[in-house]
Amino acid sequence: MITVEDALNHILEKIVPLGLEKVSLLDALGRVLGEDIYARRNIPPKDNSAMDGYALRSQDTVGATGETPVILGVIEDIPAGHIPRKSVEPGTASRIMTGAPVPEGADAVIRMEDTEKDGQRVKVYAQTKQGQDIRYAGEDVKKGELVIPRGEIIRPAEVGMLAALGRSFIYIHQRPLVAILSTGDELDDIDEMPSPWKIISSNSYSLTAQVMDCGGIPLHIGIAKDTREDLIAKFRAALRADIIISSGGVSVGDYDLVKDIMEEVGNAMEFWRVAMRPGRPLAFGAMEGIPVFGLPGNPVSSMISFEQFIRPSILKMMGHKDLFRRTIKALLHEDIKKSKGVKHFVRAMVKYEEGMYTVSTTGEQGSGILKSMVRANGLIILPEDAASARKGDEVTVQLIDTSLAQTAQPGYP
Ligand code: AMP
Ligand code: MG
Repeated sequence: MITVEDALNHILEKIVPLGLEKVSLLDALGRVLGEDIYARRNIPPKDNSAMDGYALRSQDTVGATGETPVILGVIEDIPAGHIPRKSVEPGTASRIMTGAPVPEGADAVIRMEDTEKDGQRVKVYAQTKQGQDIRYAGEDVKKGELVIPRGEIIRPAEVGMLAALGRSFIYIHQRPLVAILSTGDELDDIDEMPSPWKIISSNSYSLTAQVMDCGGIPLHIGIAKDTREDLIAKFRAALRADIIISSGGVSVGDYDLVKDIMEEVGNAMEFWRVAMRPGRPLAFGAMEGIPVFGLPGNPVSSMISFEQFIRPSILKMMGHKDLFRRTIKALLHEDIKKSKGVKHFVRAMVKYEEGMYTVSTTGEQGSGILKSMVRANGLIILPEDAASARKGDEVTVQLIDTSLAQTAQPGYP
């Protein structure tokens, strides 16, 4: 039996990021950039006006006030997107719109509100400083500059920047194909008429949803019977994936054959059993170099094992640097019993109340009680060496539902 930490380190050492693929810009949203992005052009490309107003020589406005305006001759109109044809000479100005290139000779823009049109002339009611309301070429991005390094996540801001740089296609890390196999003679699929003594293979769906939720591509292998032949056939069918997940059949029962099959097909069972609850009988190995996770069959065990070991693996394959869920400290509202030497993941509901996080369990913690997972937005992590946790203790909670971070409440940090 190994610790959660050792298991995770062992697994992550074996997981390597996948190669790159070229996609169109919007398909890259949420993905990890696989190339360094250098600017091929200045942004903005030319000095341009930050205001609707008049481009002029700042010297010409010295002493201008509301009572003593300076009067300049207007020599041209420059709407946005038009190229100025005239140079601003002393005593003149060009009417200019936001975003239009600043004409030669001008070193400032005065906003419309501080002026008054007077036929072919303009009255300027305020002094301007050199550079006022001019956006200089390359002020945002300079040609040749490294703007976004590889490894960054593409968010809407990155999409905007890449568009500004003219990058309609970019390289990102591939998403892994994740094979999902359920095992057990007691299982029916959701759309079969379930026999009264059978259960629906909910793991096939919760695991698929977890794979999709972190960006993997699920590959459905279906339900294997608890026989060597069927298990071998189904594991072989899974060999085209980048990661294989099976659920069930890894305990010590007579029909728990997954460990044996992992040995036979891949000859590489690397560890079995992790000091955690739920999820103890996890098996990890490789088949033809493909990482295989033999998760326990109980619905909560399989989900929590996925959270702790498979989600970080998928994220690593996709090129992510931050692999783990956020944890917070919260005030525990009740006593919790635990066994020593084992790390506990307790289904819980975190709230933000009166300036602090508080946490309560969501009820029955049996590894088959999916309802307490449904009600949870976090997992209280109780370390191996703890013997119990008491009401009023400060505990660590892993947030498995990121919507908590998005609830806007008064006083939310
Ligand atoms: P096992 O690890 O194979 O001994 O399975 C333990 C228990 O988990 C079984 O008795 C089932 O109740 C449940 N179980 C196993 N596989 C699934 C599945 N795919 N979906 C839902 N429950 C499952
Ligand atoms: Mg079974």
